[in-house]
Amino acid sequence: MVNKDIARQFNLLASLMELHGENAFKTKAYSGAYLSIRKWDAPIEEMAAEDIDKIPGIGSSVISKIKELLSIGHIDALEKLKDKTPEGIQQLLSVKGLGPKKIRVIWDALKIESPAELLYACTENRLIKLPGFGLKTQQDLQQKITYFLDSQDSYLYGNIEEELGVILKKIQKALPGYQLDWVGEFATKAPVISKLQMLVAPLLPSEKLAGLAGVLVKEESPEEAFEIEYEERLKITIHTCLKRDFNNLWCLHTMNAGLYDRLAELDELGTGQDIEEVLTNAGFEGLPPELFDREEIESYPPAYWEDLVSEGDIKGIIHNHSTYSDGMNSLEEMAVHVRDAGYQYFAICDHSRSAFYAQGLSVDRVIEQMEEIDRLNEKFAPFKIFKGIESDILGDGSLDYEDDVLDKFDLIVASIHSNLRMEEAKAMSRLITAIENPFTRILGHPTGRLLLARQGYPINHRKVIDACAANGVAIELNANPLRLDIDYTWLDYCMEKEVMVSINPDAHSRAQVAYVRYGVLAARKGGLKVESCLNAFTLEEFGKWLRKK
Ligand SMILES: [Zn+2]
Ligand SMILES: [Zn+2]
Repeated sequence: MVNKDIARQFNLLASLMELHGENAFKTKAYSGAYLSIRKWDAPIEEMAAEDIDKIPGIGSSVISKIKELLSIGHIDALEKLKDKTPEGIQQLLSVKGLGPKKIRVIWDALKIESPAELLYACTENRLIKLPGFGLKTQQDLQQKITYFLDSQDSYLYGNIEEELGVILKKIQKALPGYQLDWVGEFATKAPVISKLQMLVAPLLPSEKLAGLAGVLVKEESPEEAFEIEYEERLKITIHTCLKRDFNNLWCLHTMNAGLYDRLAELDELGTGQDIEEVLTNAGFEGLPPELFDREEIESYPPAYWEDLVSEGDIKGIIHNHSTYSDGMNSLEEMAVHVRDAGYQYFAICDHSRSAFYAQGLSVDRVIEQMEEIDRLNEKFAPFKIFKGIESDILGDGSLDYEDDVLDKFDLIVASIHSNLRMEEAKAMSRLITAIENPFTRILGHPTGRLLLARQGYPINHRKVIDACAANGVAIELNANPLRLDIDYTWLDYCMEKEVMVSINPDAHSRAQVAYVRYGVLAARKGGLKVESCLNAFTLEEFGKWLRKK
């Protein structure tokens, strides 16, 4: 064990002690030990016990722990602290710029126990009002956590889409005459990407990338592939091939085996024809990249991917928050933004009164907001703002206001936000009760999952979708790239049951309205048709749908 590793153990010990509010004097001694050990230039592991005693700047308690570590491989006190600290909290300790004090506040006040949950809380503006935090801190943290998550093994599509575009351009510029593109999961727009892969032709020696700013070549170039690290975060596998093999390998790395085989049979992938043409010749005209990796897509009829919903089909933006609850922008700012982006309508769905952590609306505030909406609607016609609410589904499945208040809304999105740790039976009874409530129009983020963070409570998807079908309730595909809930694999069943799917950004700021894009991409992966997408309805159609119940 080298000195750096020994030092690191003491740093972690000090951090965990501070996190758990243990003796400040001892905590200080251990963080001091971290610095002293790092500075010490002789390898401690090779020192005699009596010499270790003489290392300057460390006391007897540290010395005995160093000896413990070297003899049994761990420090008992540290292991005990680790045992009472959730894994995700320990991960947060390794996020640069986030110390134990702040983590303790977040853990206690928001019950957050992992980096991705913290990222999500930032998108919902949960940190701004915490003691010692503020808007700037929240923004800084959001960026740091995004970077932290990117340096782990998996990536969220929505977090890296823009950056990967920039990287491709940058490498292209450095390699004039080369052909390159992303392949694999990113090319199929998978919500979670476990491996970033780029294809380059003709054959590229790894040294050619070594001089590029931000690029670290991890392995020397074998024949076909090598690994680079971009800005110490993104691990990218570079596949390289002859130019004539480019299309063939693009398909091999991106498509499922069955589809690839069907294309390869034609022997056209090396003839310079583009991939779209080859797809057409093989009987897959218009098959979009989102479906390239779908299991057995080669056996689906072409009608399956006709009329898939696309970004241009979205006519209205449903489920948004404003400064009435926990949004960053006022109702008017949100509405103007949506109108100017070319949409026909907008539904505000701030949090309901039980969501106190999100400044949920009292009945008085609901009335106030409705009056403002009436005024804005006069001003903005024909653009229309709908009066909605995101009602908490309470413990017993009921909605969050009396019927006379619920009756005043144009639409109610019903979502579970509290007591997420529950068994399937409990989750199902809450959900089904809420779906059967005559005021519910859309079921919000049905499982409560956060990608890369928490699974969500267990539900029986079929039964939930069946209940929505029976009660004329639409299901949300929450478009926040961390949620994408309902999972796209259930969209086929929604369509089979004629349940409408609403692609909602759940925007807590103007910028987040753009999340709709990630919802649409996921919807396309699930084969969602434009006719089954609720917010592809025109203003008139949507109004009619609302009045149906
Ligand atoms: Zn929600
Ligand atoms: Zn919401």
